[in-house]
This record gives sequence, C-alpha cells and structure tokens, in this order.
Amino acid sequence: MSQSGPNQKALIIGCGVAGPVLALYLQRIGITPVIYEGRPEPQDDAGFFLNLAENGTDVLETLGIREEVLSEGHESNRLVFQNHKQNELGENHSETVLIKRGLLTKGLREAATDQGITVKFGKRLTDVQIPHNDMVIAYFDDGTEVHGDLLIGCDGIHSQTRRSILPNAPDPEYTGIIDSGAFTRNDSIPPSDGVMKMTFGVDGFFGYQKVPTGEIYWFENHEREKAPDRAELDAISQSEWREKLLRLHEDDHDEVTEIIRSTDSEIGKWPVYDLPSLPTWHKKTVCLIGDAAHATSPHVGQGASLAMEDAVVLAKCLRDVEEVPQAFETFESLRRDRVEEIVEISRETGNQKAPSNLVTRKIRDLVLPFFLKRGVEKFEKIYSYRVDWSEPV
Ligand SMILES: Cc1cc2nc3c(=O)[nH]c(=O)nc-3n(C[C@H](O)[C@H](O)[C@H](O)COP(=O)(O)OP(=O)(O)OC[C@H]3O[C@@H](n4cnc5c(N)ncnc54)[C@H](O)[C@@H]3O)c2cc1C
Repeated sequence: MSQSGPNQKALIIGCGVAGPVLALYLQRIGITPVIYEGRPEPQDDAGFFLNLAENGTDVLETLGIREEVLSEGHESNRLVFQNHKQNELGENHSETVLIKRGLLTKGLREAATDQGITVKFGKRLTDVQIPHNDMVIAYFDDGTEVHGDLLIGCDGIHSQTRRSILPNAPDPEYTGIIDSGAFTRNDSIPPSDGVMKMTFGVDGFFGYQKVPTGEIYWFENHEREKAPDRAELDAISQSEWREKLLRLHEDDHDEVTEIIRSTDSEIGKWPVYDLPSLPTWHKKTVCLIGDAAHATSPHVGQGASLAMEDAVVLAKCLRDVEEVPQAFETFESLRRDRVEEIVEISRETGNQKAPSNLVTRKIRDLVLPFFLKRGVEKFEKIYSYRVDWSEPV
C-alpha cells in the first residue's frame, strides 16, 4: 500500500488556483510536486476578476506569500446593497481582495516556481491509470505519459481527472444565470473607497467597485432559463451584448447604465455552472480538489478561497495520515460538509438576484435588510474558517 511521506512524487494537474498552492504545501512536507498545465503557455491577461476572501488569503499568509501574490489586488471591505432606484437596502462587512484573475494565477505560479517547483505547460491530461497502489500514470494530449506516486486533480470544473477516475459522476449543472464582467474607466463615477456596490436591478443584478487606479471592475447577472452553448454566446458581438445589458438595465439607476455604456473593452460572458455532489472525491492514489471536486457558482465569492483551503487541508492529511488513500479519505471527511453547504448557499443567493415582477421586488426590498442581518452569522462562519498548519489532523 502506498505510504504518504517524503520522497514521493506528486503529479498535480492544473496550474490555476489550487495547483500551485497545493504544490507549495506539499514541498513543505517533503513530497516533490510537478505541475502539469493544459494551456500551451501562461495567460496572465486571461479572465476578469475575483474577490478573494479572508479564509483564502489566510492560506497564503501561512505560506508567507500573501503580500507578493496579492500586490496588485485592491482592498474591498464592504458590500453595499441597493435597489434599482439606488436606495440602500443594507450592507455586509468582509475583508476581501479584488484582483484580476490572470494576476492572481501569475502570482501563485511564480511563488511556486520561485521555490523551485516545476510547472510544465502544454500538458493537457487525457487519462489517468492506476495500475497498482504505488503508482499512477498520467497521459497527455501530446502523446506523453508520466508516472508518479500520487496524482491530484486541480483541473477545475470540467476536470478530466474527475472524468477518468469517476466516469459516472454527474456533470456540472447550469444554474439559470448568465454572468458578465468587464473593466472600464469613467470620471463621472466617484471612487468607491473599498466598497463594492451591488444593485438589485429590475431585470438583472449589477455590482461594481472603482479601485484607486481609477479602473472600474464590474459584473452583471441575469436570468436565462436554458443554457446557451458557448458557440452561441461567442457569436454575439461586443456591441450587441453591451446593448442587451443596457436594455436589461434601462430602468435602473444611472450609475449602472453609465458604467455599461462607457465600457469599450471586452465584456466577458459566461453561463454559470456548479457541480452536484460527487459520490466520492478520490480513488486509490488519485484525489480531486478545488472546482474539480466541488465547483460553486460565484455568488458568494468563495470558489478560489475554498480551493486554497482544500490545498492546505490535503497537505496536512498527507503529512499526518500514514497511507495515501486514508489521507484522501480523511481529507474528504474534513471538507465535504463545509464546501457543500457553501455551494448550496451560493445557489440560493444567485436565485434571489432577479425577482421577476413589481410585487416580488417590493417584498424583496422590504425583507432584504432583515435577511442581510440574519445572513451576517452565516457569512461570518464562511469567512472566519482558518486552518492551523501546526495542528495535527
Ligand atoms: C465568472 C466567475 C466569477 C468568479 N468569481 C469568484 C470570486 O469572486 N471569488 C472566488 O473565490 N471565486 C470566484 N470564482 C470561482 C473560482 O474562479 C474558482 O472556484 C477557482 O478558480 C477554482 O480553482 P481551481 O484551481 O480548482 O480551478 P481553476 O482555477 O479553474 O484552474 C484549473 C486549471 O486546470 C487547467 N486544466 C483544465 N483542464 C486541464 C487538463 N485536462 N489538463 C491539464 N490542465 C488542465 C486549466 O487550464 C486551469 O489552469 C468565479 C468563477 C467564475 C466562473
């Protein structure tokens, strides 16, 4: 049986968020990680932005890389909720960092390579075989293969690792929401002073923060019953999409339409998916973490933080539990309840974003302040989670 411990080689699939963080923790416990990334080369401008919450930044703090990785991020410490007329409905405090996705993944990757960890690009996993309990083989689309003692799938929501070890596992599920996001500059919008303003609009939800550089980071969510396929979304031109968003928000306060109208850079558009509960997260010497195991919709801004929490908890299990499969079992038992609760909360939060008529809107405006107050405890539980690296599992 495969024993966890020093001198083992871990194959890490994916160099997004979970991959490099896990690699750094594995190196600490003497396991040699090598990261295999499917993209042909780094794409440090790719993607839009995300909010990294305290429970995620704390994982970086323990590694001593918080400052360097988040140096280009911006503090976002309050969420203010408004209705379509810009009347304030309530607020939430949360110490988060707003950061461009490409800069976050660049920072994490460089933190890993600075520590001598190898990252191989152009290695798209096509299959995983586990010939016996002391060995795992990863196959890539360039025709190569590599052998290791254990393999961790950090390859995101559409994980090939998951498909290989759990061929009958459920696929990601469309949540009924389309997400858009972009950056713009607009002098008529005042600085946000660290506040993310969120508007429950008539036909869609809109959030933005103007950061100290003057750039406005914004996102939009609206309902659409059926998932559009990627080709259909890609076929819609930027100006058509901007016009569509302007129509959806024409009855909302001016800041919303002003920001959308002033955006001439690319507006990203994605159908939002999450992952139904998997029967298990591991098989013998292969384990899934991050979105590969439990992708959540983005409505409570937790996916990246959960991926980082997974990395540190899994490394602790491999450090403290003798056999690799038992370490994976322990990892799953420590993590499953928390992440599945957050996936559910995020789905519910998304469902509340766009009430369809005047009556439901009025009710929402009346009860939201009450729910926000009640929700404080729930969110406090999400954000205050900390992993003590020195404490044995
Ligand atoms: C629109 C949107 C907004 C979001 N906003 C937030 C937010 O504000 N806060 C937050 O915490 N989270 C947010 N998330 C969620 C967050 O992005 C994810 O939860 C997080 O990136 C998961 O990290 P990961 O490492 O598991 O996967 P990823 O970050 O997706 O990394 C997976 C990596 O694996 C690589 N890969 C994929 N397939 C293969 C293969 N076959 N072989 C090799 N490599 C492969 C990919 O190229 C990628 O580099 C958002 C998500 C979306 C879609």
